[in-house]
Amino acid sequence: KVRVRFAPSPTGGLHLGGVRTVLFNYLFAKKHKGDFILRIEDTDQTRFVPGAEEYIFECLKWTGLQPDESVVHGGNYGPYRQSERKEKYRLYAEQLVAQGYAYYAFDTPEELEKMRTQNRTEDNPSPQYDHKVRMSMRNSLTLSQEEVQRLIDSNTPYVIRIKMPENETVTFTDMIRGEVSFNTSLVDDKVLLKADGMPTYHLAVVVDDYLMEISHAFRGEEWLPSAPVHILLWEYLFGLDKMPQWAHFPLILGPSGKLSKRDGAKYGFPVYAMNWTDPRSGELTEGFKEKGFLPEAFINLLALLGWNDGSAQEIFSLEELIDKFSMDRIHSAGAKFDYEKAKWFNHEWIKKSDASHLLPHVKQVLKSKDIAVADDTLLQQVINLVKDRCTLLTDFYEQAAYFFRQPQEYDLQAILPKWSEEKNLFFAELIRNYQLAPLWDAQELERNFKEIAATNHLKPGEVMLPLRIMLVGGKFGPGVFDIAQFLGKEETVKRIEHVLA
Ligand code: GLU
Repeated sequence: KVRVRFAPSPTGGLHLGGVRTVLFNYLFAKKHKGDFILRIEDTDQTRFVPGAEEYIFECLKWTGLQPDESVVHGGNYGPYRQSERKEKYRLYAEQLVAQGYAYYAFDTPEELEKMRTQNRTEDNPSPQYDHKVRMSMRNSLTLSQEEVQRLIDSNTPYVIRIKMPENETVTFTDMIRGEVSFNTSLVDDKVLLKADGMPTYHLAVVVDDYLMEISHAFRGEEWLPSAPVHILLWEYLFGLDKMPQWAHFPLILGPSGKLSKRDGAKYGFPVYAMNWTDPRSGELTEGFKEKGFLPEAFINLLALLGWNDGSAQEIFSLEELIDKFSMDRIHSAGAKFDYEKAKWFNHEWIKKSDASHLLPHVKQVLKSKDIAVADDTLLQQVINLVKDRCTLLTDFYEQAAYFFRQPQEYDLQAILPKWSEEKNLFFAELIRNYQLAPLWDAQELERNFKEIAATNHLKPGEVMLPLRIMLVGGKFGPGVFDIAQFLGKEETVKRIEHVLA
């Protein structure tokens, strides 16, 4: 059975690369009628950030990419938070020591620092604890068995390190990259179990992928350098035949290399799924949700960052993505994030969405600006009139607010320079006519308007823009007579009078 996992560490906000990892995992699981598991990897207590875990679940709720198993959703393979599985890992670490694949290391922080200082050269600015130095350090490979036992019995702090083989080649098949090889001499003896008894990520990820029966382990390319450690741990602990199939998703590139939070701040686009405020610094990083993206559009644009279905199609619903998704159409090269393109996706999704679907989003936008619309039918009419003009959901404020309240600002500069006495007369007559209009209908209003313009020797174009400014406040919006029809007789007349006065 296909079982995939997303395994975030709760260390901060979720950037779009993280959500894309969720999405590809989710699509693969659904496509193969499998399970999507969310596991919280919180074994590094120094990096733990309060609120980050709740935030991840909020983001998944917003995108609709809900796990089948997690801390929140339950499941048969729990607990789904690594800090609650602490006792499971030590056994495996000890097993590795007994098998000769790992060793106890008793080096104090001072000794480690000394090793680094002594070995630091220009070519090797940050010396590692590896096969070259391990035999000169204080560990169970260099100390006698009695000494090791004595140190353990006297509660001397120690870590367990993997003993990376020297000059061997570790090879595995990545579903996206094909065969990938590493020379083990280039990898250090990573810590597997820390002095506080907590596993490191390397041990925990392998043990949990095994215990949770993960069939496919997909993650971002930044984890590729860790793969040789994980492959060896799989081989030593569980046998390679039980190992999940791996895939490492391409990086998402910003204007200058890997897309970063800083790019977002610099260029004014969101890089996180939802707004995230770091509880330590108070720094706010903007999210796609608050910026005014529809979750459908967000998912759609993420799917296309590194994947396509081989055709020119760009707009996909989640159902279509599940149907069309395949791992062999993911490219290994980095995917370029383009904010203008991201907005294009959102615009397309706003245009193609029903007013009833947009309604709650638009209501929220208007409410945040203190405009409460009680009548859903009316609001849906407005949404239908203006949605083609909205790129972000937040644009509905400018595009829809004037239907429900008088404009708060008027772009008078657009009409004053060309104002004339004829226009005063025209609008006075228009008000008289409109007040008496028996039928308040856009076509009728337009016919009437043109007639009066003609008798006043004005081209309709000369007075159309002024009317728009009077009703809307600015040079935007759908057909001006459609707006007048919606506003009704009383309000339309009132707005014209207001500006004339
Ligand atoms: N805990 C890792 C992270 O924060 C997970 C990497 C993996 O999926 O193996 O991304």
